[in-house]
Amino acid sequence: MTHHVTWDRGISLVGHDLWFDPQTIREVAFVSHAHSDHARRHRHALLTSETLELSPGPRKPRGARLVGLGQTVPLGDARVTLYDAGHMLGSAQVLFEHRGVRLLYTGDIKLRRGWGRPDTAVPKAEVLVLESTYGKPHFRFPDPDSVVETLALFCRRALDANVVPVLLTHALGKAQEVMLALAPYGFEFALEERCVEPARAYERAGASLPPWSELDPQRPGRRVVVAPPSGKDAVRRLPRHRTALVSGWAQEPSFWRLFGADFAFPYSDHCDFDELLAVIDRSGAEKVYTVHGFTEELARHLRKRGVRAHALAASEQLALAL
Ligand SMILES: [Zn+2]
Repeated sequence: MTHHVTWDRGISLVGHDLWFDPQTIREVAFVSHAHSDHARRHRHALLTSETLELSPGPRKPRGARLVGLGQTVPLGDARVTLYDAGHMLGSAQVLFEHRGVRLLYTGDIKLRRGWGRPDTAVPKAEVLVLESTYGKPHFRFPDPDSVVETLALFCRRALDANVVPVLLTHALGKAQEVMLALAPYGFEFALEERCVEPARAYERAGASLPPWSELDPQRPGRRVVVAPPSGKDAVRRLPRHRTALVSGWAQEPSFWRLFGADFAFPYSDHCDFDELLAVIDRSGAEKVYTVHGFTEELARHLRKRGVRAHALAASEQLALAL
């Protein structure tokens, strides 16, 4: 077989009735995590219970087959196993095994978890379908613990100077992961309205977030404000404040200045370039397909290194990576 997977607004597994993160409604779909670019009202969705809980209401699948991390289930004459992807609560990689061939689809993946926890485990597979959101060599993020430490310092200094620290980040997943990362520092958080329901969903799904309340721009108190980067009306109404974009895009100043952020911290819920290479290495894959973001760039780089690599889809809008 020359192609194991093809792209048609989602990843189609050739010869099988299974799609990975399709962007249109499909009969049988694996949904790697709850970001709305992946969630659709599929007829039968394979996903974790956390992903189902976190998926926005109108995008929940009609039928859900819940699979736990580390669990293997049969699917026709194949079998699938889900592995933690480290990207957000409930995010999963899927290993598809059929007639002795293992295919791993990472979905959005983050390798380095910080706080002394081991890296996200990557199972062995002959074929790898890898996200390439940050698939260009200049995306190299410092170690996550040191970024969180400087982020905490940014918040502490602002609060000490009676300035409101505002962290600009994706409302679902990233906002809660940043709150969890900052939890050891003892901050209280004020959430812009679009971050409120995702925070509740995280708690329903079992996460214990540090103390938070909904943001009242007139009375932010001594709290760290968390808001999505776009549409900052509530942020504009705040008294003296300082904004910081929390994203891998911190590596591209021209990009983060578009959001009018005063600062940027390269803390991401994705792999940086070196981590993507590490995923390939650890999987032991002989053939790599790249999907999302810098697909062509990463595939070209891999081919130069002698890896059989193929870009599945042209670059998508950058917004998906936030
Ligand atoms: Zn994602």
